[in-house]
Amino acid sequence: MSTTIRSNNYEIFLGNDTFYQIGKFLSKSRSGNSKKFILVDENTKEHCLPLLQGGVLAFQQAVILEIASGEESKSIDVIVNLWKDLTEQGADQQSLLVNLGGGVVSDVGGFTAATFMRGIDFINIPTSLLAMVDASAGGKNGINFGGLKNQVGTFDEPQAVFVSPVFLKTLPEVEMRSGFAEVIKHALISDYKKWSDVKAIENLENVNWFDIIRESIWTKNKIVNSDFRDRHIRKALNFGHTIAHALESYLRKNNSPIKHGEAVAIGMIGETYLSQQVCGLNEKDATEIYQFIRKHYPLTLEFDSDSIIEFMKSDKKNHSEKINFSLNKSIGEPMINQHADEALIRQALEFCKEQLMVVS
Ligand code: NAD
Repeated sequence: MSTTIRSNNYEIFLGNDTFYQIGKFLSKSRSGNSKKFILVDENTKEHCLPLLQGGVLAFQQAVILEIASGEESKSIDVIVNLWKDLTEQGADQQSLLVNLGGGVVSDVGGFTAATFMRGIDFINIPTSLLAMVDASAGGKNGINFGGLKNQVGTFDEPQAVFVSPVFLKTLPEVEMRSGFAEVIKHALISDYKKWSDVKAIENLENVNWFDIIRESIWTKNKIVNSDFRDRHIRKALNFGHTIAHALESYLRKNNSPIKHGEAVAIGMIGETYLSQQVCGLNEKDATEIYQFIRKHYPLTLEFDSDSIIEFMKSDKKNHSEKINFSLNKSIGEPMINQHADEALIRQALEFCKEQLMVVS
């Protein structure tokens, strides 16, 4: 099974033949005889690099660049080291950077490629579910700065994205669950059909990932194609993320980080509550969303709502000093640039805590 999803400027290949597709891409790539670099973290070096180099002979001579796994690598120090490595290892303007990993590798690698020598080509080969359905396509990259998520970055598109679900075989369960949150988000902002397909998933072990990933990429790609610069409808993809980013920043500061997707799942509870209060999302759909998220994310979490609100005030999505939310009027009917006063946001955060304590 394989399919190609066309973005405005590049293609996203999904399926079992991605190594063949990578070979085809390389034969036409302007990188020619220039050096190829593969960016990995220690986990994708161990589990994914041998598969890739086994399947794509041209990559056997590639220079391997390694960063430490995890969000801490989304830092300017890591970027500086990669700029140094690329320089010392003889990268030139035609060199190709291959980002083999999850969203951290594609965010860091995309930013490195976008800035090195004013921009070199890069491709993304996502290896986590989250990167397959979300982070690897859309052209956003970046790092955290000043304790804030994704505070610095660029819009720069890869030359191509190659999605091979074979990499999911070694992905830890907690990471599958993290990526699944973005699948849920895409379904909720897309339409009832996609939501009912996702809602039917009882556990993540027996899933036809090809279909689920294809639909999820399709949703994101359609939105990004109509608003690449994130000026209007692309903001719909931020559903759950105003709370999620603030929660991630808060928990990282308090040395108890959670996975990005787990934060998004909690964020979707809070922002579904806001969707009910602000946009009139109906009770039945909201209740289904709460139940489904509780079932897949049996988390308990302590946080101080006022501190989360303080982090929200620094969110780069805000304007005119108002905290900005992307909510849903109904399933498949996103509402961007929505606002709530602090009292209501506090209620939504307290509601999140209560929901997480309820065992489904
Ligand atoms: P991640 O890159 O940290 O990967 C999660 C973990 O899984 C890491 O430990 C990694 O080493 C490991 N891993 C990845 N693939 C593996 C495999 N096949 N086998 C074994 N282990 C594997 O995190 P993520 O969840 O993929 O991505 C989260 C990041 O993506 C966040 O920083 C988030 O901000 C970013 N993001 C970016 C965009 C975007 O549009 N640029 C969109 C969504 C999320």
